[in-house]
Amino acid sequence: MPEERQRVVWVTGASSGIGRAMAELFASRKDKVLASARTETALQELQRTIRSGGNSCDAVVCDISSEASVQSAVQRILTSHEYIDVLINNAGVSSFEDFDHTTVEEFDRVIHTNLRGTFLVTKAVLPSMVRRQRGLILNIISYTTKEVYERSSAYAASKAGVEAMMDVLRAEVRRKGINIVNVYPGAVATGIWPETVRQKYSDQMLRPEDVAKMVYDISNQPGSVMVEECIIRPCGGDLSR
Ligand code: NAP
Repeated sequence: MPEERQRVVWVTGASSGIGRAMAELFASRKDKVLASARTETALQELQRTIRSGGNSCDAVVCDISSEASVQSAVQRILTSHEYIDVLINNAGVSSFEDFDHTTVEEFDRVIHTNLRGTFLVTKAVLPSMVRRQRGLILNIISYTTKEVYERSSAYAASKAGVEAMMDVLRAEVRRKGINIVNVYPGAVATGIWPETVRQKYSDQMLRPEDVAKMVYDISNQPGSVMVEECIIRPCGGDLSR
């Protein structure tokens, strides 16, 4: 039987949290992982850890809020790997402010990273997927698009933008062999939350590994199946005490 070809999987925001857990899991299952973020030291450490286990990981420094940085990263990836089978749009930032206290700078930072950054990365990768008539794009969105939470207007707006953008893209490319999956995690214990919140609620939150496993399973569906959305929440639902 011919050996199955290794998939090339690009995880953005892989320097910590959910992205790091996904990079580790996909690599442990023998995918070639490209792990990107802004923090080179964290990426190098991740690369060393994964490679020391005999698995494949290339660190790629990439700031998704910069078009030049995204273009350069995609060029480097496609030069060394030719194609990307799976893109996981995971990089993101949060903002926990009342609408009233959200400055224009903060609003721009969140939208530029979460919405515009996801647009830039996807736009740069998509043509190579369309050429091959093959590709999977997974977007780590958030349950904040499904439920109203106070002090999250900029963040919720950015994630709702990704959801709408990706729903349209799915309709445009689904007959070209490209699957688009929107993943909506509830609260996950990562550094995106203030330390005080994590200390208070960590026992009620998902672990990054829980999300990674779900995303990995979704990425392994038969070609005839398109998972379009996945909500993954802690058993208890919203954080409360
Ligand atoms: P995290 O540990 O803070 O991870 C965020 C990742 O995004 C980091 O690797 C960070 O790396 C990267 N990043 C931020 N800005 C970037 C930029 N401009 N360019 C490239 N990379 C950038 O938090 P997390 O919880 O794992 O978040 C991962 C994703 O899950 C985010 O999209 C978040 O909105 C989503 N999410 C999280 C939760 C939750 O409760 N934790 C729930 C739902 C959805 P650098 O700083 O090194 O660039």
